Amino acid sequence: MEGGEYQTTVVNMGVREMTMRWLRVRWRLLRRTLSELRVDEQTKNLAIEASVKRIFWTAPVLALGNFLAGLSFWLRSAPAAGQELLWQNLVIGANFTVSLISGLIWLLAWRIKRPGTSPKVQAVLVYGVAAYVLAVGLVISLIDQLVMSSVTPFLLCVTIVGTFYYLYPHYALALFSLAYLIFHRALIVMGGSSPQIIHSNQVNALIVTALGFALSLLSWIHFRTITLQQRTIRGQQMKLSELAYQDPLTGLPNRRFMDERIKAEVALVKSGCTESSLLMCDIDHFKSVNDTYGHLAGDDLLRELAALLQSSVRENSTLVRLGGEEFVILAPGTSLDEGKRFAERLRKLVENHRFLICGHEVRITMSIGVAALTGSEDIRDYYNRADRALYAAKEQGRNQVSVEAR
Ligand code: GH3
Ligand code: MG
Ligand code: MG
Repeated sequence: MEGGEYQTTVVNMGVREMTMRWLRVRWRLLRRTLSELRVDEQTKNLAIEASVKRIFWTAPVLALGNFLAGLSFWLRSAPAAGQELLWQNLVIGANFTVSLISGLIWLLAWRIKRPGTSPKVQAVLVYGVAAYVLAVGLVISLIDQLVMSSVTPFLLCVTIVGTFYYLYPHYALALFSLAYLIFHRALIVMGGSSPQIIHSNQVNALIVTALGFALSLLSWIHFRTITLQQRTIRGQQMKLSELAYQDPLTGLPNRRFMDERIKAEVALVKSGCTESSLLMCDIDHFKSVNDTYGHLAGDDLLRELAALLQSSVRENSTLVRLGGEEFVILAPGTSLDEGKRFAERLRKLVENHRFLICGHEVRITMSIGVAALTGSEDIRDYYNRADRALYAAKEQGRNQVSVEAR
């Protein structure tokens, strides 16, 4: 091999390799982009739902627009013959027909946008309308070829489909490609113009189609981003509101939640529908549990006690951890006497329960103060009265139930 030939081969190999590497990188990027465009069923259905709404709002505008266009062509139609007369009649007929069909689509969208309609039915409407609008642009542009060489109606309809509806990119690509291929072929079949004009229109149609698909892709990416962001925000909001109403140690609701429940219950009590009681529970000598087994073991005990109490209260009752080793129970439909009996049951339950903490069997007792809900709007009043009853139970020697003095 001559020196010059060798150098050329090396350079060629370098260029080929670089090109291949560039292509591989592009291909990987394209695949990643395509996979990022994929969304779950829920997002797809939301896109369809949003598109149905957009069809509902835009169909009457299209119906009116086409009606006015048809009317203006009809009123201003000049005496014509041959190709021009045919064009005039076809354009007027096409505009009135499109106006009528758009009106029907409006009615259909009105029926289909109702909640509960199957997403499949909605999808048929959306993709059907997208195909129909592209077909309208195509047909009117082909009619125009009788007297002029313009693709403006096609451009207009492609823009409508690209911006108004949220189409899944793979289906959008299929729709736009099909529309272009039909237009491309129809221009040849129709003939009539010089090959240069036909070619120019084909090139213009290709650019217009690419533009429409790009718009459709951007709309989809925008919708997908917004939907995912909204979902994240909703999830975070739910988590925040959960945290705002939850005691992190036991997973029980917290005081804030109880305040709202009491407020609702007071309204019922005030209306005379029911009697309700509030039970304030406090572990006796809990400090000594912490001191003996450690703070973490104390936490485990609090968790176990929370589960024990939760499994013993009725479904319509609310159990919350007030803080520390204090728990409050709101017992709706429970008079003071019934509240006292309920508290006694709980006291015995705790007294007889063997808590297993760090391999040790631990026994505890609990004192409970019971107060009735009255018509008072002041929530603190109920806590104070139950707290006073609890204090009395402690005073009487603990492991007691005490009812507020009335
Ligand atoms: P009493 O019978 O008078 O209620 O006595 P007590 O020891 O239960 O009450 P005291 O108010 O003296 O002490 C409450 C203890 O509860 C003190 C504190 O260390 C403990 N405590 C408060 N919150 C927590 C917690 O989240 N985890 C653990 N492990 N202990 C807690
Ligand atoms: Mg306490
Ligand atoms: Mg205590």
